Amino acid sequence: MNAAAGSDRTVVIVGASVAGVRCATSLRNAGFEGTVVLLDSDAGAPYDKPQLSKRIDSAARLDLIVEESTLRELRIDFRPAVAATGLDLATGVVETAGGPVPFDELVIATGCRPRPLAHPLPAQAGYLRTRDDWRQLKEAVTRGGRLVVVGAGFLGLEAAAAAVSLGMEVTVVDVAPRVLMRGIPTTVAERVAARHVDAGVELRLGAQGPVLDGDDQTVRVDGARGDYALVSVGALPNVEWLAGSGLTIEDGVVCDANLAAAPGVWAVGDCARWVNARYGRLERHEHWTTAGRHAQHVARSIATASTSPMAEVPYVWSDQLGWRLQAIGRVGTEELHFASGNGVHLAISATDQLVTGVTTINAQALCVAARRLLQQGDPTVEEVVEALAPATRDFARIS
Ligand SMILES: Cc1cc2nc3c(=O)[nH]c(=O)nc-3n(C[C@H](O)[C@H](O)[C@H](O)COP(=O)(O)OP(=O)(O)OC[C@H]3O[C@@H](n4cnc5c(N)ncnc54)[C@H](O)[C@@H]3O)c2cc1C
Repeated sequence: MNAAAGSDRTVVIVGASVAGVRCATSLRNAGFEGTVVLLDSDAGAPYDKPQLSKRIDSAARLDLIVEESTLRELRIDFRPAVAATGLDLATGVVETAGGPVPFDELVIATGCRPRPLAHPLPAQAGYLRTRDDWRQLKEAVTRGGRLVVVGAGFLGLEAAAAAVSLGMEVTVVDVAPRVLMRGIPTTVAERVAARHVDAGVELRLGAQGPVLDGDDQTVRVDGARGDYALVSVGALPNVEWLAGSGLTIEDGVVCDANLAAAPGVWAVGDCARWVNARYGRLERHEHWTTAGRHAQHVARSIATASTSPMAEVPYVWSDQLGWRLQAIGRVGTEELHFASGNGVHLAISATDQLVTGVTTINAQALCVAARRLLQQGDPTVEEVVEALAPATRDFARIS
C-alpha cells in the first residue's frame, strides 16, 4: 500500500486515550487516507491519565489529549460513549450496544482499569482511573480533612503528595514493607519515603489487609481513619470484551513482536502484551510513553502495509513533592551502585555487571543519556559510569 492508498479501507480503533488517539492521528500523519473510526466507552473528550493523580486542587482542569475539532479536521470519526462488547473476527466487526462496527483493520487500545479490592468500597472511597474518579477525589480534597491512600505505588504516592501539599492530613497504607515496591530500587524508594515523611505524610507499611469499612462520613482502613480513602493497588487490562474472539488473552492481548494479535488486528498501550524485541520476551507496560510509541508503530505498519518488530526500553516518570523520579529499563535487580550529589540521585541496577536499568531523581540530562545507552543493549557498569561521568563528577559514590 503506498502512502496515499488505503482510501477504501476502514481502521477501527477501540479506546480513545493516549494509545488510541495517537494511533488515529498518526495514521493521518503517515498518509493513511481511509476511514478511521475511534470508539470509547467514556462519554467525554479524550484526556490524559497522568494528570489525574498530580492535579487535584479545586481549580484544576483536565487537559485534553486532542480537541474534538482537531479530530474532525483529521476526518477521524470519534464516537464517545460507545463501548465495544465483542469481536467477531470471521466477519470483521466490533460489536457494540449500538450495533456492529465493521473494520478492515482493528486496533485494540482499551488500556487498564484499577485492580479492585476483594470487597465493595464504602461511600467515602474510590479508585483513580477515570475523569469521574478524579472529580470524586478532587471533591474530597476540596472538603479537606484526612485522606487515607491504600497503595504506596506511583499513583498512590503522587496523590498523597498532592493532597498533603494542599493541606490534608494524609496516611498511606500498604502491605508491602516499603514504598514503590514494583520497579524502583530500595535506595531511591527510601529517599522518596523520607521526602513524604518530611512533608507530613504518615506511612503505614507492612500493614494488614487492606480492608475498608465506613459510613457516609468516614472510612477506616487497618486502624487508619479518614474522610476519604483512595485505593490504588494496581491495574488490570480491559480485555473481557474480547472473550471468545479467538485472540489469545493472558494478562492482556498477546501479540507478536510487531504488535499483531491476528492478521489485521493489533493491540497497543497498557492492554498489549507483546514480544518486546528489545528483550525477546512477552511484556506488558503500563507506561504513557510506551502507549504512545506502540500507537505510532502500529499506525506506520497500517499506513505502509508493512511490519517491523517493536523494541522498547521501559520508561516511567513520576512527580512527587517537587521531585521528578524517572526509571528506565528493568530496575530493582540485585546489584546497585548509587551516587548522589547536588540534590540529584542516580541508581544503577545491574546483574552480573551488566546494567539493566537506571533510576534518577531530578536528573533529566542523566536520564536522557542513560536511556540512549540502554536502548542500544545492556552496557557494563563501567561503561555507564564512564558515559555519565561528565554529569556525575560532583557525585559521591555510595556503593
Ligand atoms: C492516575 C494515573 C497516573 C499516571 N501517571 C503516569 C506517569 O506519571 N507516568 C507514566 O509513564 N504513566 C503514568 N500513568 C500510566 C499511563 O497513564 C498509562 O500507561 C496510559 O494511560 C495508557 O494508555 P492507553 O491508551 O493504553 O490506556 P488507558 O489510558 O487506560 O485508556 C483506555 C481507554 O479505553 C477505553 N475503553 C476501555 N474499555 C473499552 C471498551 N470495551 N470499549 C470502548 N472503550 C473502552 C477507556 O474508556 C479508556 O479511554 C498513569 C496512570 C494513571 C491512571
